[in-house]
Amino acid sequence: MSLPCFVANWKMNKTVAETLSYLTLCQQWLSKLPRLSCEIILAPPYTALFSAGNKIKELSLPIGLAAQNLYFEAEGPYTGEVSGRMLCEAGCQYVIIGHSERRNHFNENDSTITHKVQAALGANLTPILCVGENAKERLEGKTLQVIQRQVKEGLSRMDGGASHCMIAYEPIWAIGTGKTPTPFEVEQVHQKIARTLIEIGFKQRAPVIDILYGGSVSVENVAAFMKKPHVDGMLVGGASLSAETFMNIVQVGIGA
Ligand code: PEP
Repeated sequence: MSLPCFVANWKMNKTVAETLSYLTLCQQWLSKLPRLSCEIILAPPYTALFSAGNKIKELSLPIGLAAQNLYFEAEGPYTGEVSGRMLCEAGCQYVIIGHSERRNHFNENDSTITHKVQAALGANLTPILCVGENAKERLEGKTLQVIQRQVKEGLSRMDGGASHCMIAYEPIWAIGTGKTPTPFEVEQVHQKIARTLIEIGFKQRAPVIDILYGGSVSVENVAAFMKKPHVDGMLVGGASLSAETFMNIVQVGIGA
């Protein structure tokens, strides 16, 4: 079994200076813990990645670094884009792919996303593939169908079983709204993801693939989600912007 994992997706928030202050607060919090029984990953915006990577190294913090996106080509005339190799150089080990905000605002589709997953793995980055139904699909009872399609398509260029990957189930209607599915509903979706992974050739779900939940995660609801057997961790958006709140979520989530 891999350790529970907590990812902070800062979206388009925080300057370099704010990122460095956040890491100082993390260091103070971590120094009070006897040991860390979880994985913590921060996803700052592109501009803060390099400084964050250096600070994490300098302070020897047990914190992983994720980018929020990448482009699937390695280099070339793609103005405004950033490749996997560049993210590795900046200190990343992970990259979020297919977040619903990218699917909705930047027209990313399953085909773009599968190329990005492949490019991430090719650059030795662990993809954190986001999947999730919208409110209409949920009302129409299509949640499991949508999730299965997104997982299958997202991983269709991945060599079954060999590489490390994370999947984050993030119902779109739950992102930034304060609404969440029940822990029982989350468990059902995570079970479906686990079954889909087996169908597409991943012989064992753990430890190769971690399945996270994301969408209005808070100090109040994290424990109930983390108790479910197929929930391996959390992807936290708004509540991760405060280091103190994020660390509280981690602490409650691991039952520390
Ligand atoms: C997200 O956007 O990845 C997310 C989980 O956001 P929030 O926690 O704010 O709902």
